[in-house]
Amino acid sequence: MSTTRKPSLSVVVFLCFTASLALAQHSAKGKAAETATTTLLQMHSSYQQANATQKQQLLTQFTAMAAQRQQLLLSLMQSNPGDVLRVAIPNNVSHTMPPTVKKYVEQSVTAQGVLEVLYEMQGTPDKTTGAVLHHFLNSSTGRLGLHFAASAPTHLLTGSVVRVHGVQVSNELTLASGSSSSNNTSLQTVSAAATLMVNFQDNPSAQPWTAAAVQNMVFTQTSNWDMENSFQHTWLTGDVAGWFTVPVASTNCDTATIKSKALSAAQAAGYNLSSYSHYIYLMSSNTGCSAWWGLATIGGGDVWVNGQYNIAVHVFAHEMGHNFGLYHAHTVDCGTQVMCASGNFSDYGDGFDTMGASSYSSPHYDAFHKEQLGWLNGGSGQPPITTVTASGTYQLSPYEVQDSNPKALKILQAGSTNSYYYVEFRQAQGFDSFLSNYSDVMGGVVFHSASPSNSNSSDLLDLTPTSPATFSHPALVAGQSYTDATTGITITPVSVSSTGASVQVTLGSGTCTLANPSINASPMQSQWVLAGSPVNFAVTVTDNDSPACVQSTFNLSDTLPSGWSGVWNATALTLSPGQSGQATLTVTSPTGTADGFYNVGIAATNAASPSNTSSLTATYVISTPVPASVAVSTNQPTYSGGQTVAISVSVTSGGNPVSGAAVSVVVAKPTGGASTLSGTTGSNGVAVVNYRLNRKAAKGMYQTTGSANSASASTTFMVQ
Ligand SMILES: [Zn+2]
Repeated sequence: MSTTRKPSLSVVVFLCFTASLALAQHSAKGKAAETATTTLLQMHSSYQQANATQKQQLLTQFTAMAAQRQQLLLSLMQSNPGDVLRVAIPNNVSHTMPPTVKKYVEQSVTAQGVLEVLYEMQGTPDKTTGAVLHHFLNSSTGRLGLHFAASAPTHLLTGSVVRVHGVQVSNELTLASGSSSSNNTSLQTVSAAATLMVNFQDNPSAQPWTAAAVQNMVFTQTSNWDMENSFQHTWLTGDVAGWFTVPVASTNCDTATIKSKALSAAQAAGYNLSSYSHYIYLMSSNTGCSAWWGLATIGGGDVWVNGQYNIAVHVFAHEMGHNFGLYHAHTVDCGTQVMCASGNFSDYGDGFDTMGASSYSSPHYDAFHKEQLGWLNGGSGQPPITTVTASGTYQLSPYEVQDSNPKALKILQAGSTNSYYYVEFRQAQGFDSFLSNYSDVMGGVVFHSASPSNSNSSDLLDLTPTSPATFSHPALVAGQSYTDATTGITITPVSVSSTGASVQVTLGSGTCTLANPSINASPMQSQWVLAGSPVNFAVTVTDNDSPACVQSTFNLSDTLPSGWSGVWNATALTLSPGQSGQATLTVTSPTGTADGFYNVGIAATNAASPSNTSSLTATYVISTPVPASVAVSTNQPTYSGGQTVAISVSVTSGGNPVSGAAVSVVVAKPTGGASTLSGTTGSNGVAVVNYRLNRKAAKGMYQTTGSANSASASTTFMVQ
């Protein structure tokens, strides 16, 4: 049995992946993969240094080793995908291997395609023994199996267009995680849209916009809007086609026929329509549709825009929001009350969300909508929402700014199991710059009420229902308090500045329960370094004690191979419940340590309650690069002032070009003093670095030294 929509089960899978990652570090297959990698690199080194006859003899064995290791990695990918990332050979190393070997070695790749999610129910229909979730990427180069080391995506369905970055072995790809972040993304959502410009048979010359203007509006401006709103998670890509004249009158609002005729015309014009997930029918003026400027399927792929009105970012951002699954942003007027059982409902009443009445601006989606899309609280890289379960003072950073700080507070409402206040701190930045006209919003916090189980439940709240009694000025400004009369929850923005807001929340009190801290390290695996190199691991510890507890002190410790040094910049962290703190561990291996993967054990232990402890194992990788040789030359032997000296640095290893090598060039002047330049070798193993001579450059002999991979060479040139 296979199906594509099982969000609740996906959550279970997410937890399984997370739990298995910690154990994956020591799997027997993982160890075997480490050994196979180290052995293969040793063979590579021997091969590079061998003469031509020896190379021929070694090649068969070298190729067999690579093929065997590939089988091991393929099997490891099924059980412990994290281990594959751990032992992956970087592209710049595999690139120097002979082609027959290289074809068995993994590649670090970026690929784009359509996601396919399948559930495999194992056993027999009357006795299910297990369920496995499979992910595939259908790209132009074929179908790739996807394997997530942690956090398989839970918010993406079959048909989503995604871009992935990971390590490919044969037709399988391992990714760090299914969630994304701005700096280390392994999976991003791409919304590919075909924008079809359509006019009508009674006015075939109506072409209110050029293709270039539409391209700019949809794929630059609206895409930038999505990028900013999603914290770099989602963007739009695609094509503009047309104008196409459809056999429908401009007074007839038959959107289904307009759609099918526009699609046929685009197909006839040679567009491959299967490569898009969204279709925008941008119509010239249609008076039959004058009741609306836009229409879209919720969670589907069709958008109609009525060209009777101007096109703008909010039109596409709003309609694409529907395609992404969002409903409108409402208000309920409760007279002198903030909330009420029944009030005057306005479907589009919220002017602070593009899913509401935002005709003159294109505000950010509210925090509830962003949570629904996974743009907030969506995984390791997306900014979090703080769910408040205890009294305290909570910090919010400006809602529009790309950082990893909490962007909203989520507070359970009185007498409810699933309705929350969402509290945002909005500032006049980016697409929210129109807020500079709303001093209450700038100087306070904005509230929405919504239920995560109901997509159509976003309500903007007016926290000053009597003065001013308008949803245009809804904020609770610094120093004011809101008290939920039913439960006595009190929310007070105690201070706001351009960089953040402090919001005090008072709930009932509770009892203190100690818990194991959470511990994270970054990176979990070091770069490939030479023996003797210091490597920093940033360690984050979170106090998970219940809110009623006092501060706890967590002692930090490390477990390293014998003879290694580990130095902490702080040996303990004192934290309040819910608070996180950081310390740095600098690990140095003894010089001469053999190449390989070494475990760095890190633990945090509650000093007053040592049974409350957590640990993890990070990896320190030692790899000695294959020996390189360097040659340096200039494009002329002599120059005069004002000319440019093109310095070529060629890096080879065993006669083969080394691409991607970092090259440093020092030019020493005859009068003393030197300039340092840098470059990277191309696929031919050569980096060309330009040194511009000053018009009045000193005359005489210049010494030029190029270095890469701990090898160097020099040459000279004259300035006359
Ligand atoms: Zn709408």
